[in-house]
Amino acid sequence: MLDVLVIGGGLAGLTAARTLTRAGRRVRVLEAGSEVGGRVRSRTVDSFTLDAGYQVLFPAYPAVKRQLDLAALDLVALPPAAAVRRGARVDVLGDPIRDPAGLFSTLTTRVLPLADKLRVAKLAAALRVPAPHSLLVGPDETTAAYLRRQGFSGAALDVFFRPFFGGIFLDRTLDTSARLFRYYFRMLMDGGAALPRAGMGSVSAQLAQGVDVSVSTRVTRVLPHGEHVTAVTTAGDIDARQVIVATDPNTAQALTGEPVSRGSVGSTYVYYAARDRLDPEVRLLLNARSGVINNAHWLSNAVPGRAPAGQHLLTVTVLGLPDLDDDALDARVRGELGGWYGGPAAQGLRPLLTERIRHAQYPQPPGYAATLPGHATALPGVLLAGEVTSMSGIQGALESGEKAAAIVLGDLHGMSRPRGA
Ligand SMILES: Cc1cc2nc3c(=O)[nH]c(=O)nc-3n(C[C@H](O)[C@H](O)[C@H](O)COP(=O)(O)OP(=O)(O)OC[C@H]3O[C@@H](n4cnc5c(N)ncnc54)[C@H](O)[C@@H]3O)c2cc1C
Repeated sequence: MLDVLVIGGGLAGLTAARTLTRAGRRVRVLEAGSEVGGRVRSRTVDSFTLDAGYQVLFPAYPAVKRQLDLAALDLVALPPAAAVRRGARVDVLGDPIRDPAGLFSTLTTRVLPLADKLRVAKLAAALRVPAPHSLLVGPDETTAAYLRRQGFSGAALDVFFRPFFGGIFLDRTLDTSARLFRYYFRMLMDGGAALPRAGMGSVSAQLAQGVDVSVSTRVTRVLPHGEHVTAVTTAGDIDARQVIVATDPNTAQALTGEPVSRGSVGSTYVYYAARDRLDPEVRLLLNARSGVINNAHWLSNAVPGRAPAGQHLLTVTVLGLPDLDDDALDARVRGELGGWYGGPAAQGLRPLLTERIRHAQYPQPPGYAATLPGHATALPGVLLAGEVTSMSGIQGALESGEKAAAIVLGDLHGMSRPRGA
């Protein structure tokens, strides 16, 4: 009989399984999809490498440093700046997070009032001091309220914070927890953002090395019997001494009966191929105007191998799940890109794929952390992993897998590590 069955081959499940396998346990991962990775995958479409949505790796995440061989991922650091788009007008914003001083030299236009530039520098200086994980505790409020309390103008929120952190939290309202904002701000200061050259899917592939995974195997029920647990799956019943449920929170709730679900934040991505280089920009493009586009990135400018020779790849992030069919959404996005590059140039873009991700993250309003589930469930022998036990992101997923494995192994040090550390 297996020692541990892990349900779900996303980052959390793979981390738990790899940790337990390395500790000598007999472990198998059951993954419903046709490949591992969950929300962190890449695929090839028409010779373009597309990640699932637009997502980046923060190399400063403590769990990333523990779990991943970053050199083997061949990370491409993203430039520490963004290009703020207001129609045809583009202003380069020096990275106010990683390089507050650089803001003054690289800011060539009046994209942010001087007082806001000083406030960014002050914020960065304050957030650089504490241990990163301690930024996740203490009083909470919305990110917008926190930024206003720091004195930031409405213009600073609209031009930079909404599109930039809207792209991270997949919510432009800045209603997410200010604790999380402070933590992510610090992670960006400490290590910036990067992309594995071969795609974000190589993160998952690396975690899966040496792990026994059965793909295309969906678990429909989990039945504890005292000494062991039976997982009822689409490939028959499988017994194990312990089970770790590392699915998305909504499925985890259905399998365990625990009140795990927190709802879903969805987002939509439109990927375009271009024959002509419409924009030499390697930086993230932030849309400071209202519209369907929140941010966009010419990924092939940053990571040339993502597009076939002589072609270019643009990924556009649309927050939420707009009630538009693919053609209508393409027309809206193209219309806005026409405002950036001119109508004929935008018409020359070739849509590669429109992807709607129903559950990209779970909502994280102020105080959300106080209501998160732990790893225990009421089912004997059944533990919970997955980002829902921590925070909705790669750090949260990795550390949840580490912690579930630590519980199985009785590793007190691993069990007591604070969130975010
Ligand atoms: C578009 C997008 C952008 C993001 N951007 C960032 C970012 O920039 N930075 C960041 O840190 N985080 C980001 N995230 C969040 C991050 O990707 C997730 O927090 C993380 O991948 C969650 O991992 P997980 O293992 O907890 O869950 P998942 O990845 O959801 O894995 C769960 C797995 O369980 C499987 N499963 C479900 N039901 C069953 C079943 N019944 N039987 C067997 N298997 C099952 C699923 O197929 C899946 O593989 C983003 C996510 C998305 C989608």
